[in-house]
Amino acid sequence: MKDIIGVSACLLGINCKYNGSHNLDPKVIDYIRGKEIVLICPEVFGGLGTPRIPCEIQKDGKIINKIGLDVTENFKIGKEKTLELLKCNNCSKVILKDGSPSCGYTRIYDGTFTNKLIKGLGVTARYLIENKIDIIDL
Ligand code: SF4
Repeated sequence: MKDIIGVSACLLGINCKYNGSHNLDPKVIDYIRGKEIVLICPEVFGGLGTPRIPCEIQKDGKIINKIGLDVTENFKIGKEKTLELLKCNNCSKVILKDGSPSCGYTRIYDGTFTNKLIKGLGVTARYLIENKIDIIDL
């Protein structure tokens, strides 16, 4: 069966990033050429609009946006919808945008909104790993 790959939509130029922009990555464009893909954006799936106030994972695991609103439930919905979409499409591999509180797979911001990256997993990345979805690191 042909592999279908889930891809963080912002990496392909979709303007779903918190600031209304994208993270277009030519490496990803090259990699997916000729392959079937499914676009994901857990934060949008979780009901957060674009643009939106940036969010970071706190030490206690809650996700708070920059003005102090708790968006943990939105992130939970987003990760579950993402997995559901991947499973519906028999998709067992994803390419994720690192550094995001949802999609980050090696690093995330430290929760202080001071632009400091630390080692860690975003909420959706962690959930996908727990559910046997492989992350492709390009
Ligand atoms: S949630 Fe993921 S796909 Fe959506 S904008 Fe953030 S990094 Fe990109």
